[in-house]
Amino acid sequence: MNETSDGLLATDEPPPFTVDNENGTSPFLIVADHAGRYFPRRLGQLGLSNAECEAHMAWDIGAGAVCCLIGKALDAVVVLQNYSRLVIDCNRTPGSETSILDLSERTRVSGNIGLSQRHKLARFREIFQPYHDRIATELDRRREAARPTALISVHSFTPVFETAARLWHVGVLYNRDRRFAQILLELLHREDGLVVGDNEPYSVTDASDYTIPVHGEQRDLHHVALEIRQDLITDEAGQRMWAALFARLLPQAYQRLT
Ligand SMILES: [Zn+2]
Repeated sequence: MNETSDGLLATDEPPPFTVDNENGTSPFLIVADHAGRYFPRRLGQLGLSNAECEAHMAWDIGAGAVCCLIGKALDAVVVLQNYSRLVIDCNRTPGSETSILDLSERTRVSGNIGLSQRHKLARFREIFQPYHDRIATELDRRREAARPTALISVHSFTPVFETAARLWHVGVLYNRDRRFAQILLELLHREDGLVVGDNEPYSVTDASDYTIPVHGEQRDLHHVALEIRQDLITDEAGQRMWAALFARLLPQAYQRLT
């Protein structure tokens, strides 16, 4: 790739997304917008240290692994974004203020400061768009086959934000349509010892999200977004536990809906 080319990813770099269990037959389509922490080689690490690139601000720790385990348990298709949210956030409207951050909490992301339109466009074209196109293709195919579908968007959140400890173990998030979320909340509340956030620590909005509003709401699909606290899914034992919980509860919730 030469210097004047607009291309971002070289041919030997990871693809923008990974599909796991591609032929899964479950109604669930499980997606993780912030699963990955690759940086295109051409961007270096955007001026960040190794530690910053491994921290929560670069990706949703544990989320991708939990998705794959749920997918395996339920025979569900899983689509994971492979590149760091700091390259371009795949859960934000492209061109919006939070799509490509130059400040993440208190960390300056120097490689994102003063970015030209051309460079923003390359990130959109090569990372954001292929990921969302793949989700759209999967949903189109199911619609054509009249196959029931529910969209499950999985994230993980940091246990401490700025200086506030977050006590929830898990959050169930929604925007205009709270049907799936409501049933899942009821089921989670019945589990022993769980602190469950109802639209906490975040809620889904058009300004702060893309995946649920565009793929879930606009298509009128059943959907829910999950936020799992990162320290609970950092290791494999935790990932297995949380995947088993959702592999048990998601079908129960969906059955009650339909
Ligand atoms: Zn996330």
